[in-house]
Amino acid sequence: MKDWKRIYLSPPHMGEQERELILDAFASNWIAPLGPHVESFEQEMAAYVGVRGALALSSGTSAIHLGLRLLDVGQGDLVFCSSLTFIASANPIVYQGAEPVFIDSEPDSWNMSPQALQQAFDDACLSGRMPKAVIVVHLYGQNADMDVIKSICDAFGIPIIEDAAESLGATYKDRMSGTIGKVGIYSFSGNKIITTSSGGMIVSDDELLIKRARFLATQAREPTSHYQHCELGYNYRMSNLLAAVGRGQLIVLDDRVDRRRAIFQRYQQGLGTHPGVSFMPEMSYGRANRWLTVMLLDMEVAQTTPGKLIEALAEQNIEARPLWKPLHLQPLYANSVYYPHSPDESISEQLFHSGICLPSGSNLSEEEQNRVMGCISSCFAKEAVKNFG
Ligand SMILES: *Cc1c(COP(=O)(O)O)cnc(C)c1O
Repeated sequence: MKDWKRIYLSPPHMGEQERELILDAFASNWIAPLGPHVESFEQEMAAYVGVRGALALSSGTSAIHLGLRLLDVGQGDLVFCSSLTFIASANPIVYQGAEPVFIDSEPDSWNMSPQALQQAFDDACLSGRMPKAVIVVHLYGQNADMDVIKSICDAFGIPIIEDAAESLGATYKDRMSGTIGKVGIYSFSGNKIITTSSGGMIVSDDELLIKRARFLATQAREPTSHYQHCELGYNYRMSNLLAAVGRGQLIVLDDRVDRRRAIFQRYQQGLGTHPGVSFMPEMSYGRANRWLTVMLLDMEVAQTTPGKLIEALAEQNIEARPLWKPLHLQPLYANSVYYPHSPDESISEQLFHSGICLPSGSNLSEEEQNRVMGCISSCFAKEAVKNFG
């Protein structure tokens, strides 16, 4: 059984045109950061999500970093940030010498808790130390409740950076995920819903902001021939080769969303009847891209733990993972302030302890998915026997 083909959590899934496009980049010898595919990819992404400006970058992390620079986040500033997320959502805050304050999730969407956010703002007002920006993460492909979050931030005049690294292709009401805040960012890392192996994008309706992002991401080089620099910049642009891959991936993005949603549904149908099992809810305000299927265990009822299931799957050469470890629990951020959903309820911690991310790649076959579900079902059966026997 060990030699069964490995099933990954979320592997790359190339379409038909990526190879042709990258060969075109080769043929034209645009083996460079920048080039015609970069410009086209930016225009096509802007059109797809419905924004005025888009800039292709080397990663989602660099996109968040640039977003903070654009909003003038600097030494000693505070930035509010979702806690239940990948570390890259917050690290750029520290790159800028600023301080993250972590905000819990709410139980319905698992995204930023408006009531915890409000509490953080109320305290900031009292202490006279307001945040410079708020980073809202759209977890596992589902949009946060942006109307509510934005109205809180607007009341204090604080801009939002949307970390839509996981939610490209998802919607919120009639908008695409990542287009509601002052800036939005996407990631094309190898495990995301579409990938350029590594890459990212920053988008905004404010074209001047994107123009400035382009300048900063290109070493802040002044328009002279003699390499003049007045400001500190970065080498954050995407390469023309990778943009060619991204253009091919964008063509199949809607199919990838449909496929991941179908995988979610199949898991829910196949495993949802086990006692103590539930799945990440979908809010009625939008359509999630279901980047990863996340299953929750009520451990008392299910008589097993996420850790045991992950181990059993690993024995069958199947990759599954716990949820992101909340950032306020990370040793790196042990000294940061954290606002739980309510004084006696930390939703992100509850989710972290009871959740499991299942293999969700859009190229997962039905047979492979059956293998995953079979393994999980037999774990439940074994635990049941143990507890009756
Ligand atoms: C993947 C991811 C990032 C970082 O993107 P990279 O392209 O890997 O730098 C940031 N935030 C979230 C929520 C992510 O999942």
